[in-house]
Amino acid sequence: MSKVIEILNGKHSPFASFELVPPLKGSDASKLYASIEPLMQFCPPFINVTCHRDEVEYCANPDGTYTRMTLSKRPGTIAIVAAVMMKYKVEMVPHVICGGASSSKIESELIDLHFLGIHNIMALRGDAVTGQRYFQPEPDGFTHANELVGMIQDLNHGRYLDPTVRNGLSTDFCVGVAGYPEKHYEATNMENDIQNLKRKVEAGADYIITQMFFDNQCYYDFVRQCREAGITVPILPGLKPISTLRQLELLPRSFHIDIPQTLVDELRKARTPEAVYQVGIEWCIAQSRDLLTNGAPAIHYYTMAKTDNICQIVSKSF
Ligand code: FAD
Repeated sequence: MSKVIEILNGKHSPFASFELVPPLKGSDASKLYASIEPLMQFCPPFINVTCHRDEVEYCANPDGTYTRMTLSKRPGTIAIVAAVMMKYKVEMVPHVICGGASSSKIESELIDLHFLGIHNIMALRGDAVTGQRYFQPEPDGFTHANELVGMIQDLNHGRYLDPTVRNGLSTDFCVGVAGYPEKHYEATNMENDIQNLKRKVEAGADYIITQMFFDNQCYYDFVRQCREAGITVPILPGLKPISTLRQLELLPRSFHIDIPQTLVDELRKARTPEAVYQVGIEWCIAQSRDLLTNGAPAIHYYTMAKTDNICQIVSKSF
């Protein structure tokens, strides 16, 4: 099996990679396979699976009081990557987040992944849990993703948190990290955000995947600014097609990104949900073709577990 960075550095035509979301707790795994199946025709060199931290919910009791519950709504990232890797013989990239876990719990997770034969990891901080305004690390947890990348590199050098482990086995993880063409919402400014991205690369990240964007100029400017700041690793553009009008509100709110007015106008002009869906596809095809013409090494598609539009986009873009 290969590491993502070897795939990117090898001689290859531009390719599509995909990101899947674990099904909601209580769902059938067959739904997951049904969303992967159509993607396999494109021979993706790797597939990412997101990781979701526990959420806090307040459930109403009959007496009018509320019980605070910690719910894990989309568990199973590690099991999914192992199962999909075995079934489809495709390289899998689990996302590992800092939020909600101590460093030793994360270390154990990494050891599990190593034992499963997984050599690729996407290292992320994660967001604040529901009800918290800002991200708060666990006691003995990581505050930023660069610390997680550093820990993965320690394991790659046989250094474990447990000081009693001597001459520990070295893992060989390849690490991806997140980049934000429209700036991460917490960063003071773009320059500061890119310096923080550079910290992740200096800690050992092999490549970057970007947050979704709908105006390619944001990606081109971001790549230029990263290169000017001395970041030399590959930067993969991340794309997501809009599929409903409601996403015009949801996506900026959830991901802190802009949607260009021309796209908004086209979506609002569409008369039916099917027409809206088609506008989202056509916009994403145009973005993909432009990125490929301008030398993007690959395009990473956020599927949100719905793959019909993604299949149309990939078959018309590559
Ligand atoms: P960081 O790199 O830690 O950055 C967070 C903020 O802190 C930024 O503003 C940055 O400028 C600043 N910063 C970074 N390092 C430092 C430092 N050392 N000192 C001071 N400031 C610093 N979330 C999930 O929960 N699960 C997923 O599976 C998931 N997958 C994602 C995949 C991609 C490709 C992307 C782009 C995002 C994904 N996210 C996921 C969302 C991500 O967790 C959030 O965007 C989160 O708010 C930031 O994560 P990060 O890894 O970029 O954090």
